[in-house]
This record gives sequence, structure tokens and C-alpha cells, in this order.
Amino acid sequence: MAQPVSASLQPHAETVIPPQLAADGPEDDPAALRTAPPPFDKASTDVIIRTADHVDFHVWKCLLGEVSQVYADMFQLNTSASAAEASPLPISHTERGDGKPVVHVTETSAVIEPLLRTFYPPPNFTFSTIDELRPVIAAADKYCMDGVLQVLKHRLLSSFVSEEPLRVYAIGDDDDDDEYFVELDTLSANAYRRLLSYRRRYRKQLKKALQDLAWLADGAWTFMHCSSCVGGTTTYSLRGSASPRPAALWFTSHYQRIGDKLKAWPSRKAIEGSLFCEQALKEASRCVVCREVVHEHMRLFMQNLRVEIDRLIEEVAATINIPT
Ligand SMILES: [Zn+2]
Repeated sequence: MAQPVSASLQPHAETVIPPQLAADGPEDDPAALRTAPPPFDKASTDVIIRTADHVDFHVWKCLLGEVSQVYADMFQLNTSASAAEASPLPISHTERGDGKPVVHVTETSAVIEPLLRTFYPPPNFTFSTIDELRPVIAAADKYCMDGVLQVLKHRLLSSFVSEEPLRVYAIGDDDDDDEYFVELDTLSANAYRRLLSYRRRYRKQLKKALQDLAWLADGAWTFMHCSSCVGGTTTYSLRGSASPRPAALWFTSHYQRIGDKLKAWPSRKAIEGSLFCEQALKEASRCVVCREVVHEHMRLFMQNLRVEIDRLIEEVAATINIPT
């Protein structure tokens, strides 16, 4: 059932690894817990969001459910166990002493506070740098807060497009509305040429990354270790692995499908949604070993891949200066 784990493997800062290597989630160490500032400190609320840096945000389920489809679905499932199991996100769900449910999230309070303030009563949060805003947009996207996402993207455009058009473009690249391109009309010809150069470089880097798995930390991934499934001539090197190894055949097909999809549409949006992994999950479930862990491993794998796509965008964007 469980795969063997090398004790020497260490979690990477930006990588989510298979569950055998990770702790079950942030531990509830009462000494480390802090309560968020007002208005997120009210005892009368009915749910707690606990961030990765151990800050408790006391909030209302109805407000969260109103802006986030993910939370709406989660709260609709009445039992905590089934909610955690059904959630597509790394959320665990435990009971605290006062009976209020606690939802653990992977974001820090620096991300969750501005995200919540976007739809809580004023004053709203103001972002002084694009680096503050970017992870909040990512979190709104992750929790399917469509209305909040629009507000934040408007803020991205209104606050930063004149100073950092390329980075705004890189973040807005996922969006298929034309708003960003309208804004980009204001760029000079020289800036536009650089922007096209950015796009070419990004596509090239993405293609290169998808030819291997060097961006993924080695670990107990079932698709690299299951002796029943691993085979074929395609091999991959993971970060920290000694040499290239073959992967499970169902995984190789899946990774090729990802490559094809991203070639046509080089955005993390292209590989989102549970349907995209369906074929791989179906094939892997025929194996008695893989079927035990494949859902969790594929969820983590796709999560890591999306992080890598974002990292590539940032990396390429950082190398090109747009003249003002
Ligand atoms: Zn297998």
C-alpha cells in the first residue's frame, strides 16, 4: 500500500511532496497560535481559517461561501471528515475546543488577510507592491473566488500597469478577457517587441521543463516507484535523483498530454480542473498499488506543476526590462 520513503529526502521550500514525506498539516500547537487582528478576532463567528504561519482568522461561513465556490461546497458537506476528503485543496478540517471548525490553509497570513479584506467591510487592503498582490490573486483563483478575483485584477491593472506592464501582463496572461491587451495598447513599440520576446522565451522554457521532471523533487511518487507500472523507454530525472528512471506508463501518457495541452495554451489554466487527470486516474486505478495513493499523488503533482509554471513566468519576466 504505502510506498517506501527515503529518509534522506527533504521537503523543498516550494514543493509539495507526497504525503508520506510531509507532516499531516500544521500542528495545533496552542503556544504558536495567534489570533488575527480585527475584524477577524470575533468569538461570535462560526469558522476559523488557520494559516501556515499559525494565525487564526475567525470568519463567517456564509461570507466565505458567498464569495468562494470551494468553501461553499466544503460547508455544504456536513461532516468534517467527508469535507476534507472531498476537497480538491490541501485543506484539513479539525475540531477545536470551542467546537468551531478549523480549516487549515497552506497560505500565510500575509496572503489570507488581504484576501479576506477584499470582501470584508472597509477599509480594504491596499497593495504597495505587485509582489504583495500576486499571491493574493493566486489564492483567490485557487479558492474559486470569481468576484474577488475580478476586483483584485482590476487593482492589478489600475495600480501597477504603468510601472510594471510586463509583470502585469505575465500575471494576467492566465485570463482570457481582452482587458490586459487593451491596457497593453498603451505600450511603446519597443516595449511591445520586448513583450513578444518574453512570450517566446517563456514558451521555450516551458517546453524544455516539460521534457523532464527536473523541476519536481524526488520522493515517494507512485508513478516513479510502482514496480507493477513503471516501464517503457521514456525516462525522467527528478530533482535530487541520482539518474534518469522510467516512470509508470500511465504517467508518461499523462505527462505527454500535459505537454500537448500547454503547447497549445501555455497557461496554468490549460491544465486545471479535475477532468484533465481523469484518464490517468482511471488507468492508474487498475493497479492495486497505485490506486491507493494515485489521487493524492496526482493532486500534488499537478499542484507542483502549476507552481513551476508560475515560477517560469516570473523567471522570464525578471530578465526583461520594459522601457517606460
Ligand atoms: Zn502501479
